[in-house]
Amino acid sequence: MKPGELVLKGDNRKAFEAVLKRNLRTMLSGYNVRLEAHKGRFYLHTSESEQAPVENALSRLIGISGWAQTRSVPKTIDAVKAACIEEGEKLRAQKAATFKIEARRTDKSFPHDSFALRCLCGQAVLDAVPGLKVDVHHPDAVIYIEIREKAYIYSDAHKGLGGLPVGTAGRGLLLLSGGIDSPVAGFFMASRGMGIDAVHFHAYPYTSAEARQKTVRLAEILGGYCMGIRLYVVGFTKVQMRIKERSPLPWATVLLRMAMMDCAEKIARKIKSKCLITGESLSQVASQTIENLSCTQSIVTLPVLRPLIGMDKDSIIRKAEQIGSYRISIEPYQDCCVLFSPPHPVLRGDPAEAVHWYQSLELEPLIEEALREYETIKCGNGE
Ligand code: ATP
Ligand code: MG
Repeated sequence: MKPGELVLKGDNRKAFEAVLKRNLRTMLSGYNVRLEAHKGRFYLHTSESEQAPVENALSRLIGISGWAQTRSVPKTIDAVKAACIEEGEKLRAQKAATFKIEARRTDKSFPHDSFALRCLCGQAVLDAVPGLKVDVHHPDAVIYIEIREKAYIYSDAHKGLGGLPVGTAGRGLLLLSGGIDSPVAGFFMASRGMGIDAVHFHAYPYTSAEARQKTVRLAEILGGYCMGIRLYVVGFTKVQMRIKERSPLPWATVLLRMAMMDCAEKIARKIKSKCLITGESLSQVASQTIENLSCTQSIVTLPVLRPLIGMDKDSIIRKAEQIGSYRISIEPYQDCCVLFSPPHPVLRGDPAEAVHWYQSLELEPLIEEALREYETIKCGNGE
């Protein structure tokens, strides 16, 4: 397993590696695995029966650039050749017609350099495995040799998620709706090393129990990458009713977003989150014009991170598919803001006017009440 970007982090590298190891141990706490760290590589020793769950965990581990199931052999050229031949036979059985060898020699006391290794082992595979030819440009399969403290041979290399280990960049509070965007926003921040907690606002009975449950499932998926997240579920019915009663209809959605930010910031301060995160993307909907985004954040002082701000919907959907949230996000549900969908929403709100309307709503006591009653759910413990 290859640690990813953290190798670039100079003096911090040890600290980053320690977090990565801790995360891996958390993810694999139910399994009988042994972790060994050497320069530039982590080795996980596991039994055949636990291989599938271990690979599943590695596919969700932020901070590694790749991993492979490898065999280790003594550091002699004959042992390396024999292992390459076995690998070649396996690939041929899987219908590969062409291959190449990639070799890397970290232990310079090994008598053959990487070029010689490629030639000697490539020839050995060619001689021993009928039907397999060399193609250095577009091979069906690659056999990797790494000469380190032992000799490692593998062919099924997987790409990791990359990024920085979760827990190396503080914590942020994600505003998690039941939609496509916000889980992806949370994932992007987690990929920069940020620990994630989430807050969801519902307006029961106007929004259904299924909508709440859907958000819990999204938080479970996201928590699988983030070493677990705490989801705060906040009842916002009274706040929404007040907005509906007292605000000019075109402003309703922007004022609701402001109330969400206001409440989220209060939770964030309580749990020592350093920022708010949303799934907003510029001009995706009326409430996300640059002017309205300014209105939305005008009443909070914590930084508001919007990792999707410059992304188009197709790219967001592709990412959602990759992380596994998409199929849940597209299930039909009643969003909180269906209580009022103004036919002509304000498009270029003035922040000063927004603050004026917001204050006239006198939401403080209702938000305080919501904050006394919210529910906390632990989602996705990493397994
Ligand atoms: P998403 O697909 O994540 O729902 P969206 O494109 O539907 O986003 P909006 O509904 O305008 O956009 O919401 C913008 C952002 O506001 C969301 O990405 C999310 O961060 C936050 N948000 C919206 N509704 C809620 C909610 N009910 N609870 C918590 N956060 C919410
Ligand atoms: Mg939404």
